[in-house]
Amino acid sequence: MIQHIDLRVSLETADDPELIRLAVIRKAHLPSEDVVDVKVVRRSIDARSRPPQVQLRCAVFLREVPEPEPAILAEFKQVDEAPEILIIGAGPAGYFAALECLAAGYKPVLFDRGKDAQDRRRDLRAIQQFGEVDPDSNYCFGEGGAGTYSDGKLYTRSVKRGKMERVLRLLVEHGAHPDIPVDAHPHIGSNKLPQVVMNIRETIRHFGGEIHFSSKVSDLIIRDAAIQGIRLEDGREWMGRAVLLATGHSARDIFHMLNRLGIPIEFKPYALGVRIEHPQPLIDEIQYGQRNRHELLPASSYGLTCQVDGRGVFSFCMCPGGLVVPTATSPVKSLSTECRCRVGTARLQMRVL
Ligand SMILES: Cc1cc2nc3c(=O)[nH]c(=O)nc-3n(C[C@H](O)[C@H](O)[C@H](O)COP(=O)(O)OP(=O)(O)OC[C@H]3O[C@@H](n4cnc5c(N)ncnc54)[C@H](O)[C@@H]3O)c2cc1C
Repeated sequence: MIQHIDLRVSLETADDPELIRLAVIRKAHLPSEDVVDVKVVRRSIDARSRPPQVQLRCAVFLREVPEPEPAILAEFKQVDEAPEILIIGAGPAGYFAALECLAAGYKPVLFDRGKDAQDRRRDLRAIQQFGEVDPDSNYCFGEGGAGTYSDGKLYTRSVKRGKMERVLRLLVEHGAHPDIPVDAHPHIGSNKLPQVVMNIRETIRHFGGEIHFSSKVSDLIIRDAAIQGIRLEDGREWMGRAVLLATGHSARDIFHMLNRLGIPIEFKPYALGVRIEHPQPLIDEIQYGQRNRHELLPASSYGLTCQVDGRGVFSFCMCPGGLVVPTATSPVKSLSTECRCRVGTARLQMRVL
């Protein structure tokens, strides 16, 4: 039998599986010998209490050993000879589409204008040190797409386009920390994310998929009113069962190409924002009441929302302890402009990239 128990515990208890087990037994008045296993299935920090506490939802296995969950990778088929699906873009959309092709028995053939995650680093250094932007290999273009060198925040819980849980489990099976499906605000970590991306590449190749880097798609091959293939900038052509466009929002040349081919595209409303930088200890003090954060507490974050004239105004993508990176995709004269201003009693400093 499985029972779910909610707990509110100290940081130290939340960090120790044996203390969690004892807390569960105490709270639910369970006989110790009946509790075979306790798994934390949800974890969030309650920063309102002083000191901060941790909310846990635990699955408690009573007189029953939990079945190991079958790996999603076990669903994948060898696809060397299967019909080919051409995927343009090796960002999150392209790589996850490729994994779904493996599950469905199709051979994904990916093309990305950029380089693989390792070689791409050299071009990022050139941006940071000399302000030189390679239009095909930069913070937005290359293996893993725009977020490869971010800390990989996985905050969305949208269910509109499928199950988040499957995405999180696939990331875990490729090297992300097993806690990401459990934490309320999970992130993969900038130190791990490029390796997770490279592990996904290995899976795609292992099952018979293909990935072509430094391969910029410049045209679609349309015959009998259907998209049948693609043409690369160097003139090579590929035909496939289907063509999937996963080029992200920075590939302006793709929008021009679609326009040239008379393929209708719809614009999405977008949000316009400014960046506000705060010292991390300030946010830690406001949120946790601790300027020197406890070692078991993650860097604190916040979210603000309100309505102005019927429209939502919100803080987006708080990046605790983050770095600022220039995400230009074409050569620019000046990479950043700084301005300072006063709003009421507050002083704001902004850098426009
Ligand atoms: C610095 C930074 C930090 C971020 N941090 C986060 C975060 O923490 N959490 C989060 O959820 N989101 C984050 N994002 C946003 C996130 O990265 C994007 O939402 C996501 O990458 C979009 O995925 P995508 O696959 O649709 O497109 P992209 O990631 O843009 O990938 C598109 C790919 O297509 C390739 N491509 C483009 N044109 C062509 C062409 N003509 N031929 C061949 N290949 C082409 C590009 O090289 C690229 O690799 C961040 C973005 C940036 C820039």
